[in-house]
Amino acid sequence: MTLFPELCESVLSESIIGRARQKELVDIRCVNIRDFTEDKHNRVDDAPYGGGMGMLMQTQPIYDCFRSLYDAETEEKPHLIYMSPQGKTLTQARVKELAEMPHVVLLCGHYEGVDERILEEIVDEEISIGDYVLTGGELPAMVVADSVCRMLPGVLPNDEAKSLESHYDSLLEYPQYTRPPEWHGRKVPDVLLSGHHGNIDKWKREQSLKRTYERRPDLLNHAELSKKDIEYLRKLKAEKKAKAEK
Ligand code: SAM
Repeated sequence: MTLFPELCESVLSESIIGRARQKELVDIRCVNIRDFTEDKHNRVDDAPYGGGMGMLMQTQPIYDCFRSLYDAETEEKPHLIYMSPQGKTLTQARVKELAEMPHVVLLCGHYEGVDERILEEIVDEEISIGDYVLTGGELPAMVVADSVCRMLPGVLPNDEAKSLESHYDSLLEYPQYTRPPEWHGRKVPDVLLSGHHGNIDKWKREQSLKRTYERRPDLLNHAELSKKDIEYLRKLKAEKKAKAEK
């Protein structure tokens, strides 16, 4: 639900998500809130009570737009998310949960946001994409739509690939290389050219642990770690300590 459906449509028609829509693996509709206004000048916003800067999106067009999306008699209310810098920051764990839901609706705010009563009346959840403020909820909604769609079966060419990517299991992905084997004097690690799958898998796992330990150690608290992983992390910690003491 947006005031700029063409903007959303153009983003969601390209590449992997565009193809997923064509193959009907996912059904995405970009609905214009303005189509539902009862204002004779087509307005959807007004000045906030009590003063303050900017304009607020009004309740009526948003409510009627939402109600047009499902039949309240026969269908369950879809899960409605308001894109908001005041919401919980999006995580891969939440993305996975949203991908399990049959029907999710994203509400994009604009101007100063929306009348608080819409949040109280119909919104189930507020999601932020980070601690900064954008002019509208469209880009955040595209982030949610993209991250959720790529979790749906069949959307990625290789469904297994996503389980290896950063954040999927609370670990960052290992470094990756493609041809040529040497570029500007920088060589691809020998192990990746060795053809030895056991060694390659071990290297990838260790690199993934190392990256996460160095860049996002907070994630390790949520990761599922084997005995070998824990041993490797101990070794990394000891190395770091020894370096610091030098
Ligand atoms: N006055 C609001 C506040 O201080 O919380 C900010 C309004 S912002 C200028 C306009 C719209 O952009 C919001 O209604 C929201 O939909 C969207 N938006 C801005 N930053 C966002 C973020 N970090 N995450 C999600 N949505 C965001």
